Formats: sequence, C-alpha cells, structure tokens
Amino acid sequence: MVKAVYPGSFDPVTYGHLDIIKRAANVVDELVIGVLVNNDKKPMFTMEERKTLLEKVTADIPNVQVKAFDGLTVEFARSNGASVIIRGLRAVTDFENEMQIAQTNHSIAPDVDTMFFTTSLEYAFLSSTIVKEVAFYGSDISRFVPPEVSGELLKKIEKLGNK
Ligand code: ADP
Repeated sequence: MVKAVYPGSFDPVTYGHLDIIKRAANVVDELVIGVLVNNDKKPMFTMEERKTLLEKVTADIPNVQVKAFDGLTVEFARSNGASVIIRGLRAVTDFENEMQIAQTNHSIAPDVDTMFFTTSLEYAFLSSTIVKEVAFYGSDISRFVPPEVSGELLKKIEKLGNK
C-alpha cells in the first residue's frame, strides 16, 4: 500500500496541478494533497479557499483527500503515514530548486522519497501566478483552470479592483 503527499501552495489550483494529481492518483493507493499554510508568497486565496477549491475539483477522484499543513513536508508525510512526496516538473528552471528540496528532504527523512512527474506539454507554461496575471488583465482563463476556480478568481479580481 503506497501513500503519497502532494504539497504546494495551490493559489489557486490549475489544470497543471490537476494533471499531476490525476496521474499520481493512478500510481499510488492514496494521495493526500497538502495545502501549505505558511507561505512566503502572500497568497491571493486564503488557506480555506484553496483547500475548498481543491476539494471541489478532485471530488470525483476517490483516493484523493485534501489537508492543510504547516512546517516541514517530510513531517506532513510522516504524520500521514506517507512514504512518497509528489512534485511536478515543468521546465529545467524547476529542476535545480526541486532537486535541492528533494535532496534536503531525503537527508532529513531517508524513509521518505520524492517522485517527480513531468508536466504534460500543454501545461508546461502554466503556473498559478501566470493564471492570476492573465485573469487580472481580463483574458479568458478557461483553458488554464477548472470553471469552479475561474469563477472564484474573477470574483477576487473584481473585489481588488473595487478597493
Ligand atoms: P509551490 O509554491 O510549492 O511550488 P505550487 O502550487 O506552485 O506550489 O506547485 C505545487 C507543485 O505543482 C510543484 O511541484 C510544481 O512544480 C507543480 N506544478 C505547478 N504547476 C504545474 C504544471 N503546470 N505542470 C506540472 N506541475 C506543476
């Protein structure tokens, strides 16, 4: 029985994340998505909002659950009985940073390993930051995020504009 965690900011979840979630859920028995509470990047969505959106868009995947977490990813993995951390790789630019994180995690917790999924080509350029920027300037984001997410994102942007 293989249990894995997939940590991230998910501010908000995109089709790129969802692609990784579906593929990872196919190869592990249980996948726990970890929404990082303590984030250096000031998030647009609260932790509760990010978690709720993830729950909505993964509702049809039976072996996936969503939890909030704070602190070390390896501790989050251990406390969930997971031996694998899932991460996505978009481009070589992700590689150096991700390798450093994975090696650090493995040296802290040799019982936990990191498994990488390379992005599907159509999402290689996609990040939560890019989606927020495109939405902010009024372009269509329906190819980048699920409808539940685009609705909430547009509401956020409208609110910001009215401040
Ligand atoms: P973090 O702030 O931890 O990088 P993100 O929410 O930005 O959190 O990303 C979480 C994980 O999902 C990371 O491993 C990231 O590389 C991966 N990811 C994000 N967007 C994509 C994408 N378009 N394709 C594949 N993986 C992605």
